[in-house]
Amino acid sequence: MDKVKAAKELVQEALAQSQNPCFTCSFQAEDVVVLHLLLKEKPDIPVLFLDTGYHFPEVYAYRDELQKRLGFRLVNLTPALSREAQERLYGKLYETDPGRCCALRKVEPLFAALEAYDTWFTGLRREQSPTRANLKPLEEAILPSGHCLKKVSPLWDWTLKEVFAYLAVQDLPYLPLYDQGYLSIGCAPCTAKPLDPSDPRSGRWAGKGKLECGIHLHGKEG
Ligand code: SF4
Repeated sequence: MDKVKAAKELVQEALAQSQNPCFTCSFQAEDVVVLHLLLKEKPDIPVLFLDTGYHFPEVYAYRDELQKRLGFRLVNLTPALSREAQERLYGKLYETDPGRCCALRKVEPLFAALEAYDTWFTGLRREQSPTRANLKPLEEAILPSGHCLKKVSPLWDWTLKEVFAYLAVQDLPYLPLYDQGYLSIGCAPCTAKPLDPSDPRSGRWAGKGKLECGIHLHGKEG
């Protein structure tokens, strides 16, 4: 089946079965495809952005430009500590203990927010990383509290080429950092251009022995 049609149908089916859906968005290319598909079906879906305080300035500018253009319901999730307060207390955790930094700035705020929802849409794709090779379109996410959500990844089997083709056909802009050679874009201190072109996330936490921030590690196939 055509992948756009399949993704659209998955979005429609998941929304029809959901009382309270949300979408997590870091404004990478695949996120914008999912955002576009979701907005056609549910224009008021909450779009959760993990505002760690460490994103590239280009990401904040692009987020705001896209929000103006598409008019979605942006929800900025901020950690308990500001970036400055965290650095005063613990120094540059992204250098000394990135696992803790991600826990404080991403995992804790997101898991707290997800308690309010029953369905979680993501822009995850199998091709993004060896850690995502077994991704399924429908999974169950279980939060530390025990709260379960349906986790839906409509682009699970898409390639990056297909993602950019969709953006081009829909005349949607993409994050300008892609033109500089980045293929997976997270917080600025932990994002480099990919060391291995066949592994787009190989520039994330390079040399730190870390492949994921921790938000996508709780769950099972649904
Ligand atoms: Fe901190 Fe880096 Fe994780 Fe961002 S990606 S929360 S800067 S360790």
